[in-house]
Amino acid sequence: MTYESLADGGFASGSMLGSGGFIVFDEDQCIVRNTWNFARFYAHESCGQCSPCREGTGWMEKVLHRLEHGQGNMRDIDLLAEINKKIEGNTICPLGDAAAWPVAAAIRHFRDEFEWHVNEREESQKRNYGLIREPQSIA
Ligand code: SF4
Repeated sequence: MTYESLADGGFASGSMLGSGGFIVFDEDQCIVRNTWNFARFYAHESCGQCSPCREGTGWMEKVLHRLEHGQGNMRDIDLLAEINKKIEGNTICPLGDAAAWPVAAAIRHFRDEFEWHVNEREESQKRNYGLIREPQSIA
């Protein structure tokens, strides 16, 4: 795994090494909740100098908050993707891309979890998506 091999294609191929840091989640973790947490960080860190980052990171944080708390709808999932496209490549520093790409990747790879938060509003307020799975039996 190298910066070059993952950067080839970047957003289009769906991967990047970024700053080289890794966060590993097990299957019990909620992707929507963790994506919202990323979005909160980037919205807080945006310096506000360029509008796609200043406005977009805040919008993503609000939409992800709605989804995580059972108040979102299917349109919100596509709205997140649209906001991503407005931010990507349109900011002065890399923070804009760094904020947009994790959200885009989360939707691309875990769309079913986002849709669960819309279809199971009450459940999504009570527990994480990962915890709806049946416990694995130990043979
Ligand atoms: S992309 Fe960088 S310069 Fe632009 S508002 Fe965000 S943090 Fe500031």
